[in-house]
Amino acid sequence: MQITGARFPGRYIQAQGLLSRLGEESKSLGKSALILLDGFLADSQGDAVRSGAAPLAVELLVHGGECSEQEITRGVDAGRKAGVDLIIGIGGGKTLDTAKAVAYRLDGLPCVIVPTIAASDAPCSALAVVYKQDHTVDYDYFLSRNPDLVLVDTQIIADAPARFLAAGIGDALATWYEAESCREAGAENSWGTHGSALAFEIARFCRDTIVEFGAEALAECDENKVGEALERIVEANILLSGAGFESGGVAGAHAIHNGLCELHDVHGYLHGEKVAIGVLATLLIYDRQDEFEKVREYCKSVRLPVRLSDIGITEVTDEKLRKVGERACRPNDLMDNEPKKITPDMVMDALRKLS
Ligand SMILES: [Zn+2]
Repeated sequence: MQITGARFPGRYIQAQGLLSRLGEESKSLGKSALILLDGFLADSQGDAVRSGAAPLAVELLVHGGECSEQEITRGVDAGRKAGVDLIIGIGGGKTLDTAKAVAYRLDGLPCVIVPTIAASDAPCSALAVVYKQDHTVDYDYFLSRNPDLVLVDTQIIADAPARFLAAGIGDALATWYEAESCREAGAENSWGTHGSALAFEIARFCRDTIVEFGAEALAECDENKVGEALERIVEANILLSGAGFESGGVAGAHAIHNGLCELHDVHGYLHGEKVAIGVLATLLIYDRQDEFEKVREYCKSVRLPVRLSDIGITEVTDEKLRKVGERACRPNDLMDNEPKKITPDMVMDALRKLS
């Protein structure tokens, strides 16, 4: 039996200034909420969060910065002590992942997610990446439900640095290529099902949207302006890419991203920036020269890296490339979702061409 399907957050809403309606939009899910607020936002958004959360009773917890066992436990304890019936995460990916994990551990309490940057496609997913205290990945935490509500205030996204939006475009760029790889390979998504026809249409729509609106959205973001392009890119980066990767599946670009993360050089760079390099390298592995040129030009137009030096790898050695290649092609991992057998040597050759 081949099961096909797609998965989504319970509800996704987006508008300029929407944080002011946080409580109104969430009140069908609970009465009293533990809000995990990103430490970066505690000063600037603390008051706006409190007033937006009405009529909910609110317990505010400032997030410590890492999505770790320690931080999840702190959230669970705070939620239990306050007797809340709803968990809300507001901030960047680590705060949001912690909120999802806390809700899950509190017997599956409803969860509301409020991304304040659009730098990756994580907000809509039923996945939390848990890190160790030394900031290396501990494990992928697969949760039983996607967030019940994802609420996006596009003014907050427009006020954040455009680099985050560009990184989100990099993550969204991979969605179409990886879903197509999974389809061709007959590979499953992380949930053990095959993407449905809708999953692949979402991935295609994601690609078309970022191609059409990417550069313009970044220009709007530079001026902290919420225009049509920014609205469209925020939806592509968060909702389309999120439902696309979770339903269609993940493959080579993220495998190479995981390989690149083995190198200390790249640690100052964002997830989506490294994923963009993964997309370019994968196209080279398949020798799709025309598509590669097209995507490279596109990446330049939306401020994404196109060379290894753009993500901090200024000194390219065989030893480093071997490390990346071995990790990218780890058995029983994402690279198996590519329709052809890809070896560490092939990854190394492709990366060399990007040096
Ligand atoms: Zn990603």
